[in-house]
Amino acid sequence: MVLTRSQARKKATFPFLDLPAELRTAIYHLALGGRIIHVDRGGGSHEKQSETDARTSVCEASILDKESYALKRLPVDRREGLGNSSRHNACNTPAAKNLPLSFLSVCKQIHQEAALVPFQANRFTFWNRKSLARFLRYLKPKQQNAITAMILYQVHIQSGWESASHRSLKAPRLLGLREVLICVELAPGDYLPFFGEGESIVSQTIQDDRVSGMGKLKAPKLNRVEVLINNSSLGHIPPLTSAEIKAWEGRIKDMMLAK
Ligand SMILES: [Zn+2]
Repeated sequence: MVLTRSQARKKATFPFLDLPAELRTAIYHLALGGRIIHVDRGGGSHEKQSETDARTSVCEASILDKESYALKRLPVDRREGLGNSSRHNACNTPAAKNLPLSFLSVCKQIHQEAALVPFQANRFTFWNRKSLARFLRYLKPKQQNAITAMILYQVHIQSGWESASHRSLKAPRLLGLREVLICVELAPGDYLPFFGEGESIVSQTIQDDRVSGMGKLKAPKLNRVEVLINNSSLGHIPPLTSAEIKAWEGRIKDMMLAK
């Protein structure tokens, strides 16, 4: 049998759309999900950024945040290499990878089926409240509500989530958000009493203020909150005790889950 050119081409093409729907969904998740997506990696509020620009990149860290927190609690050498900024250093290059979203423009049906997968099947990380607000402004409501998981970083002295940083921002609505991991990383500078009335991070008021912006998320479906707080102190000032850390972690959880 002699095939016409278009028949031959059809025969050579993998019949993706003939696959069962659940198999197609699994492939969309493999292609577009399962990653940690940084929003504005390195973009503290001190950095000048355009109001509409939401830079995303796929995390390239060789160690997960959670693992690094566990390691940091052990007395191992070179602990500084486990800090948030060194861990995510490679994620901030201009060549940082992004999701292969061109996959979505292959055809209309694929687009319809998979367009929300990048939001449903990845974890989005934010270093500050402004980046979060900017990112959400950039999304359509159905994309916004498709987000299921986030990682929020409060990295020592950087202004991120304290009340002064979000007073004028609208509370973000994330109707599909179910899971949040919060990583708080303290540094020696946090123990210096230059906040207000000579208070430092040992004060509960300062601790709660430091993460107050995270509590502004409107996420009625949120049911899994994990909090990791890392400790570090100046030589002569004792760091927070494990009981103090535990109490702070508990207050953050309560704040996040309060309806
Ligand atoms: Zn990263």
